[in-house]
This record gives sequence, structure tokens and C-alpha cells, in this order.
Amino acid sequence: MLVSDVWHQRLASARQQRVEEQRWRHRRVMPPNTLDFAGNDYLGLAHDPRVQAAQAEGARRFGAGAGASHLVSGHLEIHEALEDALAQWTGRQRALLFSTGYMANLGVLQALADSHTALFQDRLNHASLLDGATLSGARSRRFHHRDGADLERLLARSSATHKLVVSDGVFSMDGDVADIATLAHVSQQHNAWLMIDDAHGLGVLGDNGSGCVEGFDSQAVPILVGTLGKALGTAGAFVAGDAVLIDHLTQFARSYVYTTAQPPSIAAATLEALTIVQREPEHRQRLQHHINYFRQQVQALELPLADSHTPIQPLLLGNESRTMAWAAKLSQRGIHVGAIRPPTVPMGAARLRITLSARHTPSDIDRLVEGLSACQREEARCPA
Ligand SMILES: *Cc1c(COP(=O)(O)O)cnc(C)c1O
Repeated sequence: MLVSDVWHQRLASARQQRVEEQRWRHRRVMPPNTLDFAGNDYLGLAHDPRVQAAQAEGARRFGAGAGASHLVSGHLEIHEALEDALAQWTGRQRALLFSTGYMANLGVLQALADSHTALFQDRLNHASLLDGATLSGARSRRFHHRDGADLERLLARSSATHKLVVSDGVFSMDGDVADIATLAHVSQQHNAWLMIDDAHGLGVLGDNGSGCVEGFDSQAVPILVGTLGKALGTAGAFVAGDAVLIDHLTQFARSYVYTTAQPPSIAAATLEALTIVQREPEHRQRLQHHINYFRQQVQALELPLADSHTPIQPLLLGNESRTMAWAAKLSQRGIHVGAIRPPTVPMGAARLRITLSARHTPSDIDRLVEGLSACQREEARCPA
């Protein structure tokens, strides 16, 4: 590296800082036989042979790629069919496909908000929602996590004509669920629209699996974002709402307009996954059993389990090095869990992010619990 290379110097110093903070992250190729308790394939649909076959067949029928953006020539009948099915499932007039959830959130916020808009976001909202706010130029105010009274206070103080309240449905690092009834009520009282990003609830929560907003119509939750790469097992995302909203996004959401349409094979696979979610509640039920079983076992060990009833089951270890040590010990046993540290979560709130899937077996969960118990025993023997 040349000393005069100012770019390499900048990158090296950013790297050094991260390394010194012990926050440099490593990606590893997952060894084939790892027991995965970190992913978001909650219903096991990524590995369902029917979904895999639909993807192969979709590629044969419609091509490996869409070939253009939706407004040019990339909008195919399989996309249209998927959008209709998603709208119907979520009880909305229309749905619009995006390539990823990250892009959906950027697109919605950029298309709806500007510097005169007031955004109100839960403190623990996903990074894509915060980035979307930055892109829009709107001012964001953050309300205390799941605190309707704090939201109310902020809304009452705002003189903006256009107010938008934004929240995750299921919080991705905590597994707790937004209080939709309160958010909807408070938003309506202050003439604000409500946007819920239910990336982790869709397919998992609700009697029909249509997520944490099941039972709340477009009036209560005018903007619903769902992602397809989690419980549906494929990739991409959608926004559901009334025709006026969807038409607006089709024209103005830049992350929709200026990108190649989702590969039709993915749309075909997603349509199959959606059919399975609707017809086979047993996957959801099996997952719920796993959640209950895991919680019972871990509570018996008196480990600091978060109060979550979703497939996201964080173990709040607090200390970063402790969290890394536990994750490493589990990894030696062939078990992969997420080790989540600041800045993803607040200081002192490091945790193991354990996720459960219908694909696990009860004995997989026993192995995980055994691993956690071994970490605990080892710590008792030689405290840090
Ligand atoms: C995963 C996630 C996203 C991003 O979705 P991708 O399709 O992975 O880009 C957005 N919001 C929340 C709450 C998420 O958990």
C-alpha cells in the first residue's frame, strides 16, 4: 500500500478502530452439518421440496431473470399473480413487490416523506427504516420502545400536516411484538398514518399466519411491509395497502422504479410457499410447540431469557465478551446462534439471538439446551 494512498489509509483506520473495539465481524461459510439457530427460515420453507420445484419450474417457464424493471418490461404474469395473492392474504386492496425488504422500506419512506413530514419511529426499529428516513430528508423522532404514551406525547407536540408513525411488527433483536392496537389508535387520533414492517411476524403470527396485523384493516394500518426471505423462505418483499398508496409507490418509490424486477423464479417459489402457509397451519403449530418447549427448558436452567413468544428467543447475556464466548462454545458443538453486540443493540445489551424453526426437531432443541447448560456450568467453574 502506498503511503500516499489516502483511500487505503481511510479504510485501514476504520478497520483498525473496529478491531480495537473488538467489533470486526467475520463471515464464515456455514459448515454443512451445522445446526442453525440463527436463521429466519421459521417454517422451513426454504428447504421445502415443493417450493424448490416451483422455483425451478418458474425459471423454466419465465426465465432465470426478469430482464428489466417492472415499469419497462420486467413485470410478468407470475409477479402479478403473487401480488394479488399477497393482497388477498393480508386483506389489502393491492400489494407491490420489491426486490428486498431493505429496498421496500427505503422506497416507501422516500416516496411518502420529505423535509416537511414528521416521522415517529420506535427506538428499536430496523436499520432499513432509519436509513429510509435519512434518505427521505424527513425529521425522525424516536419514541420509547413499545411506549404508546411517549408516542402520544411526541405526536401532540408536532405541528406537521403529514405525520407517519413507523414500527417493526416483531422486533428483530428482541422478539417482542408491537402493540398494534395502541399504535393504530394513537395514530388515528393524531391524523397520522401507521406503517408496520412485519418482516418477522408474517407467516408466523396470527391464526392465518398473516402476521401481527392480522385483524387490523387498511384503516388501522394503512401501510404494511412484509418480507419474503424469512418465514416464506425465498427472497424479496412487498408493500400492501390501498390502491392510492400502491399507485403512488409504483410511480415514486425510486427503489421500485430503478431496479430490475424480482426474478420470476423467486416469485413462483414465493407463490408456492404462500399456498403452503395458507393451507398447512401445522408448520406454524409445530414451531409454536418448539417455542414453548425451548422456553420451558431454558427457564428451568434459570438463564436470562427475554420475554418473547415469537421464534426469536434472545438470551440476554449483557456482556459482549461473555456473549462471544458462549457463541464460540456452541459453535464447537456444531451449533450456530447469532451473537449480537452493539451497535446493533444498545451498550450492555449484548445477547445470543436464538431463532427456532419448524424445521428443527425436538432433539435439535435438546442439543441446543445441552450446549447452553454446558456454557453455564463452565462459567460457574471458572467465572470470568
Ligand atoms: C430482515 C428485515 C428487513 C430487511 O429485509 P430483507 O428482505 O432482508 O432486505 C427489514 N425490516 C426488518 C424488520 C427486518 O427484520
